[in-house]
Amino acid sequence: NTSATANIGVVGLAVMGSNLARNLASREGNTVAVHNRTYARTKELVAEHPEAGFIASESIDDFVASLARPRTAIIMVQAGAGTDAVIDQLAERFEPGDIIVDGGNANFPDTIAREKRLAPTGIHFVGVGISGGEEGALNGPSIMPGGSEESYRTLGPILASIAAVAEGEPCVTHVGTDGAGHFVKMIHNGIEYADMQLIGEAYDLLRTVGGLQPHAVADIFAEWNQGPLESYLIEITAEILRQVDPATGKPFVDVVLDQAGSKGTGVWTVQNALDLGVPVGGIAEAVFARAVSSKPAQRAAVRRLAARPEIQQVDAAAFAEDLAKALYASKVVAYAQGFDAIIAGAQKYGWDVRKDRIAKIWRGGCIIRARFLNRIAEAYTENPDITTLLEAPYFARAVVEGEAAWRRIVATAALSGVPVPGFGSALSYYDSLAAERLPAALVQGQRDFFGAHTYRRTDKEGTFHTLWSGNR
Ligand code: NAP
Repeated sequence: NTSATANIGVVGLAVMGSNLARNLASREGNTVAVHNRTYARTKELVAEHPEAGFIASESIDDFVASLARPRTAIIMVQAGAGTDAVIDQLAERFEPGDIIVDGGNANFPDTIAREKRLAPTGIHFVGVGISGGEEGALNGPSIMPGGSEESYRTLGPILASIAAVAEGEPCVTHVGTDGAGHFVKMIHNGIEYADMQLIGEAYDLLRTVGGLQPHAVADIFAEWNQGPLESYLIEITAEILRQVDPATGKPFVDVVLDQAGSKGTGVWTVQNALDLGVPVGGIAEAVFARAVSSKPAQRAAVRRLAARPEIQQVDAAAFAEDLAKALYASKVVAYAQGFDAIIAGAQKYGWDVRKDRIAKIWRGGCIIRARFLNRIAEAYTENPDITTLLEAPYFARAVVEGEAAWRRIVATAALSGVPVPGFGSALSYYDSLAAERLPAALVQGQRDFFGAHTYRRTDKEGTFHTLWSGNR
């Protein structure tokens, strides 16, 4: 197989890599070379999918030889050391102008460092965020490529051929240089955390306060999925809530241990937001909520302390209506915070990020795909310089219209003892932005009192320090 005929290669043929390779092979014009460290995996894929016409190589030398110039290979191996090992193998054999793509879930500073490392060789290194899991990899993911403009000219059409399509447009755009793709993918995952948490809280409230059984909650979610809340996450939530455990006949949600796991991108989002000084309370609360759920000893200890408050009496239908508005408003906040993090990251790392295009490529293929993203795209197309999504006319109106309902939901949750870190922090964030004066003035006073940190005044320029009598 030494004739260089493949326009694209995939290294790493576990579930993501094989699905991506099959997706590539199914598109007109692509010939796909495949390689995996353990050859058995390669043989299995090729045997199972003769229709793909894969060019399979046992050795990395043969794999590289099977690629037409400029050689383009997508790495889909375990993030971290595995990725570096494969980069080194390819870099040894590639020539200037060739393109190494990392499609795994790399942390974006690693991507920036890897591109720097390869730059002197003339080989393009491109970090690409790929969202949508196994299913997306096979049928069309949302794709967030970083790297150089030049590499995108070769890579762009190939990625466009396999991306999801939303409203006639492929869900791929060059989001920025070097680590921009992996950064934006990280923020996507952070927003996903926040969205899932909000939906979880809505479910909890409908069950605990609304008194509804899972299948009835599923009906409400299915109904929401016909309106402005329409999204993949709402859709699958309805399906999950209808699922019955075959072993016990109980609702599936009732037999699952209520301790949520995570793989790290939510934590990365919050860590980076902290460094960038961007408030992403919705994402942070979602990460923390999973952590709280996973502390059974603490939960058991506090559960024993006191009687639970009485559940507020509500009309289930009216409550569900309020909840839809509260969910929408909280979602606007979560996305506003996520886009703020993208804007701050772009500024710090020098990426020319188009917010409207990011909203558009998230409309298909990825976990947070939703009707809602059309509105975000419109908002940023209309005015890319809005200070927050909350001021975009459409969202401003939606939040103002839903505000009373939002407050009733958070108040009812508090009185009933239902935890709503997502709804609550979103509303507090909104109220903080909306407040005439914030207690930050007092905090400045405290800082000046104990640390002489100084403060600024409302009535004149300059910095001031008071000689506090209690602090001599
Ligand atoms: P994985 O389980 O993360 O990794 C297994 C693959 O990595 C195998 O092909 C394995 O080769 C290879 N590998 C590991 N160490 C290696 C090394 N030192 N040298 C060469 N190859 C090595 O696979 P996956 O679940 O398909 O995920 C692939 C990438 O996609 C990961 O970065 C993952 O984080 C990301 N991912 C993304 C999504 C998403 O929704 N975007 C979902 C899942 C995963 P052997 O067969 O020889 O062991």
